[in-house]
Amino acid sequence: MLDTAFFRRWLTLAAAAVDREADRLTELDSAIGDADHGSNLKRGFAAVTAALEKEPPATPGTVLTLAGRQLISSVGGASGPLYGTLLRRTGKALGEAAEVTPGELAEALRTGVAAVAQLGGAAAGDKTMLDALEPAVAALTDSADSFAAAATAAEEGAVATVPLQARKGRASYLGERSIGHQDPGATSSALLIAALARAAEQPTGPATEGTAS
Ligand code: ADP
Ligand code: MG
Repeated sequence: MLDTAFFRRWLTLAAAAVDREADRLTELDSAIGDADHGSNLKRGFAAVTAALEKEPPATPGTVLTLAGRQLISSVGGASGPLYGTLLRRTGKALGEAAEVTPGELAEALRTGVAAVAQLGGAAAGDKTMLDALEPAVAALTDSADSFAAAATAAEEGAVATVPLQARKGRASYLGERSIGHQDPGATSSALLIAALARAAEQPTGPATEGTAS
């Protein structure tokens, strides 16, 4: 089972990864955007970490909805509302349970990713974060073992954006000149899913309470 501590660990690991990779994300965004993706997410995840410490949520669902709200209110770029929607809708789909199964998280994440596609009007192949998120949620099963496969699928999806021409977001203004660069949002999505896989590898808390099954 995945408990509240697991979800906090996931977002804390994601925040650390964003911090570590912020320069790279901004560099990718300077090639086909406006060079703010790393700083946007760094600010957003710092707000998430601060909020989780200030008012520790009691359930997995509220960890994600709180984080989503922080991203929406603190990130100015397109990615704030999109990632905020991902986490809020995933959190809402988890309901009020104190613990959820990997299968329930997989279903909830599929709902969250569908909400991102609807909000942004994008689909896989448009060279956006969905090119990492959709293969990731497709790889998730009812076992926590699938988190590692989802991380691999997300990373491969991000790399596969290189030859694509952007059809959504700022990068689409470049037309064919967007070809040959990896999408920043797909790259940060791969970090988010990698953090999920890492969270499942690291049990915390009392040894009697398994955090991932
Ligand atoms: P902005 O483009 O406003 O500067 P960011 O630089 O933070 O915002 O984020 C850019 C990323 O957001 C892109 O690399 C892409 O992955 C994602 N993105 C932009 N528009 C959309 C959209 N309509 N649907 C899904 N993802 C999008
Ligand atoms: Mg940008």
